[in-house]
Amino acid sequence: MIYQNTQKPLGLYIHWPFCISKCPYCDFNSHVHRSINEKEWLDALLKTLNYYYKITANHKLTSIFFGGGTPSLMHPSTVESVIKKACTLWDTNPDNLEITLEANPNSVEVNNFKHLRQAGVNRVSVGVQSFNANNLKFLGRNHSPAEAIKAIETGIETFDNFSFDLMYALPHQTICQWEAELKSAIEFGTKHLSLYQLTIEPNTAFYKQYKRGDWQLPSHENSNDLYDLTGEILSTKGLLPYEISNYAVPGFESKHNLTYWRYNDFIGVGPGAHGRIRIDNTTHAFKQYSSPAKWLSSVQKDTNPGCEEDAPLTETTVFEESLMMGMRLKEDLTIARHNVTLINTDILADFDKMRLIDNLKESSNEISFNMTSKGRLVANSILGKLLR
Ligand code: SF4
Repeated sequence: MIYQNTQKPLGLYIHWPFCISKCPYCDFNSHVHRSINEKEWLDALLKTLNYYYKITANHKLTSIFFGGGTPSLMHPSTVESVIKKACTLWDTNPDNLEITLEANPNSVEVNNFKHLRQAGVNRVSVGVQSFNANNLKFLGRNHSPAEAIKAIETGIETFDNFSFDLMYALPHQTICQWEAELKSAIEFGTKHLSLYQLTIEPNTAFYKQYKRGDWQLPSHENSNDLYDLTGEILSTKGLLPYEISNYAVPGFESKHNLTYWRYNDFIGVGPGAHGRIRIDNTTHAFKQYSSPAKWLSSVQKDTNPGCEEDAPLTETTVFEESLMMGMRLKEDLTIARHNVTLINTDILADFDKMRLIDNLKESSNEISFNMTSKGRLVANSILGKLLR
């Protein structure tokens, strides 16, 4: 069935679920497989794209994001085929289409950068995580600080739009150590950085170690100090926070991730991928099967390929989800009058006094405010108090 929508922006997420090894903190849908039939996987991705095109035919494709897992393990020709197919199906403006691929810093993947650029990728995000050998060892990463540096240098040479990730608030990490890492990071002149505090997720190796008391995380107070220091140091190079963990020179924010945070429509293709698409005034939540084998077999035989869930959401859920995502951002959040009954408006003045929100404005049509840096850090707790 083809649903009629007016042309709306659309983000496309492709999940490649394979990694060389499993990092101990990782709760992503990633699996260690030595060999896969890449042609079979490509055919499955293309078939799923065809299916989603039918329900979003009137959208305009604004971004493609290859995530994982480790999508830089895909052969560049596989990446190219997916990009070509998406650009053939959806209307898009090639000059404005952001195409991101996540990569790890090992040499095989870095040697692929120029082939990935030829395949159509125009933005790469590398999982550096640390420049410190002990931290990399603790995080179970299989690259060295030298490989991390090489990956950044090659990435910056190859792509105008390049980002890398670091992790902080690690056990025993001091302010001085993090300051040194940040100063190394900004010296490369990258225009985007993602900086994540270590969190302990259930069903990970770190979860067991943490519960056993093998090590402790820094206190909230120390983590907040590290967060404040991060903003201060990055601002010296014009890298401004636009989301809890993301910093960019204005104009280099991740378009694709902004699609999620602004609650625009997106499709997720591949094991465990999620999507949100508004069809005939109802937002649908899509989820693909998480198990790679089950996903592949469903795509090969089902008419609704790989789809474990296609559920219409209530307008209350849509509002709550959009608020939760929007509160991660620095930009203004607007709550339309018809949704104001869903929140405790009285508490907003308290949040304002506590400097958790800023620029609180109320008109007959809407309430708007933006989250402060302090507020974004406790966005979940603010959300819990704000919702009725
Ligand atoms: S490389 Fe990334 S996706 Fe793969 S296990 Fe490590 S953190 Fe998870």
